[in-house]
Amino acid sequence: MRVTEGGVELEVPGEQTAGVEESVFYNPRQELNRDLTIATLRAFRERENRAESYLDAMTASGIRGVRAADDGWRVTCCDIEEDAVDLAQANLERNGLENGSRVEHRNVNALMHEAKFDVIDLDPYGTPMPFADAAFARCRDLVCVTATDTAPLCGAHFNSGVRSYSAVPRNTDYHTEMGVRILLSALARSAARFDVGVEPIFTHATSHYVRTYLELDRKATAADAALEELGHLSHCEDCLHREAEYGMTANPLESCPNCGSERILVAGPIWLGPYRDREFTAEIREQIPDAFGTAETARELCETLEAELDAPTYYDQHKLCKSWGLPANAMDEFLADLRDAGYEASFTHYGGTTFKSNASVAEIFEATEANLE
Ligand SMILES: [Zn+2]
Repeated sequence: MRVTEGGVELEVPGEQTAGVEESVFYNPRQELNRDLTIATLRAFRERENRAESYLDAMTASGIRGVRAADDGWRVTCCDIEEDAVDLAQANLERNGLENGSRVEHRNVNALMHEAKFDVIDLDPYGTPMPFADAAFARCRDLVCVTATDTAPLCGAHFNSGVRSYSAVPRNTDYHTEMGVRILLSALARSAARFDVGVEPIFTHATSHYVRTYLELDRKATAADAALEELGHLSHCEDCLHREAEYGMTANPLESCPNCGSERILVAGPIWLGPYRDREFTAEIREQIPDAFGTAETARELCETLEAELDAPTYYDQHKLCKSWGLPANAMDEFLADLRDAGYEASFTHYGGTTFKSNASVAEIFEATEANLE
C-alpha cells in the first residue's frame, strides 16, 4: 500500500483486515506525533543551528527518518529487522534522499555507543528504557522519546512499571500525567549516570503514548539540577487530595490532611518540574504548516500546552464531582469560579474535563460548590 504523509511518499506492505488496509510498519495514528516531530526539529534547529544529524533508532518503514531527511537533516535510519531495513532504504530512494542519508542494519544500542548524533529519536515497541543509557551516553543535543507502554507507566500494570522505570507508579485519576512524570524521572536518572542534565522542552501524552523531547546539557552540575526536579507524591484514595514533595527520599503523608483517611498511595520518584518550555512550544506551533495532515490538532495541542499550569497533577472535574456526589457543570463556568476565588486554573491537554489549579481539593470544593447543582 502507498502512503503519503508530510509531503513524502512511502510504500509499506499492507494487509487487508476487515476492509481496512493496515500495516505493522506504518501506524497512521502516529501521524500527529510525526508532524509534531518535524515541527519540533525545525524549532530546535533555529535554536541550535549546529544540529544536523538525526538518528531514527527504530525506523520500521522509515517514515519518520524519511520525513526528517526531506526536511534537511542528515539522517541515519536503523533497525534490527532486515525487512524494515530494506523497506526504509527503498523509501529513502523513492524520495531521492539516499545520498545525504543512510540505513543501518544494526543493534541500535551498539550503533549509539559507536557513532555520535546531534538528535536521537527512540520509538520502540514497549518501554524505551533499554535504549536510554546508550542514547544519553553520547548524543549531543536532543533525545526524543516515545513510550507506548502506558499501562506500566501509569501504574495500571504495577510490577511492570516498577521494573521498567525503577520507580513506583500509582494508578490515579491523573494516570496519563503519572505516566509522563514516571517516564521523565527514569530518563533524567538514566542521563545523570553520564553526567548529563535533561530539560524536557516539549512533552505531550494520550492514553496511547507519551512523547517527550529532552534537551541535553553535558555537565555534572546540570545532571544534579535535573535530579533536583524529582520527588514523591502522596495521594488520598478517598477524597483525591494530593501533595507533592521534592527530594530523592520519600516522606509520605500518613493520613490525609483533608479527610483523615489512611488510604494514601505514594508514587515516586517522579519528575515534578515543568515538562515543556512555554516559549519553545509557541515556536513549535509556528513551525506547523497548513500542509501537515494534523495541522489543526497539532496547533491546538500546542496552544493548550502553552496555557497549561505547571502544577504536578491535573484534576478531572467529573471525578471530583462524583466523589462529592454533585453533578458537574460546564468547564468554563467551573474554572471561572476558581479564578473568581483567587486561584489559578487552566485546561490541560489530557482531556476536556481535566484542569490544573494551585487550589487543593478542599479549596476547589469551596470555590465551585455553589454552582454545582
Ligand atoms: Zn482524603
